[in-house]
Amino acid sequence: MKHVVGGGIAGLAAAYRLKQQGHDVRVFEAADQLGGLAATYETPGDRIEAFYHHLSKSEETIVDLAEELGVDDRLEWLVGKNAYYVDGVVHPLDTPWEILAYPHLSLYDKFRLGMLTLGVDLREFPPRFDSYESLAAYEDVPIREFIVDHATEGVYENFFEPLLDAKFGSRKEDVSAAWLLGRIKFRGERDLLRGEVLGYFDGGFAPFVDALVDAVGRENITTGARVTDLGLADGAVSTLTVEHEGESTTHDTEGVVVAAMPNVLESLCGYECDIDFQGAVCAVVTMDRSLTDTYWLNIAHDAPFGALIEHTNFVPPDRYGGQHLLYVASYIQSYDEELWQSTDEEIREQWLTHLEEMFPDFSRDSVTQFRIARNPRAAPVYERGYLEKVVPYDLGAVADGLYYAGMASQAQYPERSLNGGIVAGFECADRIDARASESTPEESRAVADGSGEE
Ligand SMILES: Cc1cc2nc3c(=O)[nH]c(=O)nc-3n(C[C@H](O)[C@H](O)[C@H](O)COP(=O)(O)OP(=O)(O)OC[C@H]3O[C@@H](n4cnc5c(N)ncnc54)[C@H](O)[C@@H]3O)c2cc1C
Repeated sequence: MKHVVGGGIAGLAAAYRLKQQGHDVRVFEAADQLGGLAATYETPGDRIEAFYHHLSKSEETIVDLAEELGVDDRLEWLVGKNAYYVDGVVHPLDTPWEILAYPHLSLYDKFRLGMLTLGVDLREFPPRFDSYESLAAYEDVPIREFIVDHATEGVYENFFEPLLDAKFGSRKEDVSAAWLLGRIKFRGERDLLRGEVLGYFDGGFAPFVDALVDAVGRENITTGARVTDLGLADGAVSTLTVEHEGESTTHDTEGVVVAAMPNVLESLCGYECDIDFQGAVCAVVTMDRSLTDTYWLNIAHDAPFGALIEHTNFVPPDRYGGQHLLYVASYIQSYDEELWQSTDEEIREQWLTHLEEMFPDFSRDSVTQFRIARNPRAAPVYERGYLEKVVPYDLGAVADGLYYAGMASQAQYPERSLNGGIVAGFECADRIDARASESTPEESRAVADGSGEE
């Protein structure tokens, strides 16, 4: 029997692939709900993710998996409008003429920004089109230095800096230019006349997770089950201890995929990962009317949140019983920050007050529900030298049969995503399977027909 620690997308993907390959597998999930960071709330219509989620066109593994699971007909590619809030004004930034009309960048800044995002290096003549192909070359370059050198000071100060403030706060100087270039490549298709094309399932990500759970087999998954220890014998992982319904039990295992944050990996086997994580506080605000006509509004303003993501400007409100859903999101770099220390009631009061200040037409009377989700490790800080810190899929150096598919794995770079979680889960499963095929012919046959598994 192979075991998976964590029933988020990465753990479920690993279990699904292992099962497909003919292995017996059991998933232990500490929470009562599956899906991890993609967990959802109820609405009068479809379920809604507690943390905003969409797919980019560059992400293919999740699309292939949706097809395998028979839910690809639910996948919709919709336009998400982007805008920037500066000095009390919402500036749409989707079409070429909206970008031309944006007053906070000079024409030359816009030209240099455009060339950078198209991957054209204008520092030499003739311009080079291959400068940004290798991200590794920029792994140790500070992001500010890179943008000033490859575009302009104005592009940094008036375009990227507020975005970096919102995403990385006090850690923004630590982030590498490689991350930025990776993010630009990661962003998928743009509809030049309308905006960014993003993926979302009809019904949200819940039906996709449900289909994955069904494919793994609900009988192979235990929720409310926290893995607390791994046992080793002769350099190989041999047991795992699980707390479930107040009881602690130890199970023999032939391989373990840890599909959880690296602090969980460390507590289970002592492996230390140096990647820093930032926390997130994210509210889903339910309103009886819309706030803006934008999906993704970046905030270049002194507000206690970094972005306003009006989900029902992306997916129509009739899917949620006519309600309008707005995500208000902020990242924290330290657990001492006031936001992290505040109660939900304090956050609600502070955020609604700011929304009323920023949008004179907005009134808290339109708010019917305010649900807050917090996660202490919502995203890695992609600082310089990050790639040297990623946790390998195969942790054979720690113990034979130990694998890692959590957020600190290679597939979650340059941006952590559901797609990255699936890739990481598959990578681990494929390594386990390849290892099983290298076993003696009798053992391989036993794996294939399931008779040799515990
Ligand atoms: C604010 C925010 C916005 C995001 N936006 C997007 C987006 O737009 N698009 C996108 O694709 N992705 C997005 N993501 C990222 C995406 O949610 C994650 O990359 C993905 O869900 C990670 O999956 P995972 O399985 O690796 O980890 P998790 O979802 O964290 O799952 C790990 C699971 O392990 C369980 N666990 C922990 N310890 C134990 C233990 N000891 N025993 C048993 N179980 C344990 C946890 O309870 C959890 O369920 C976003 C995330 C956040 C926070």
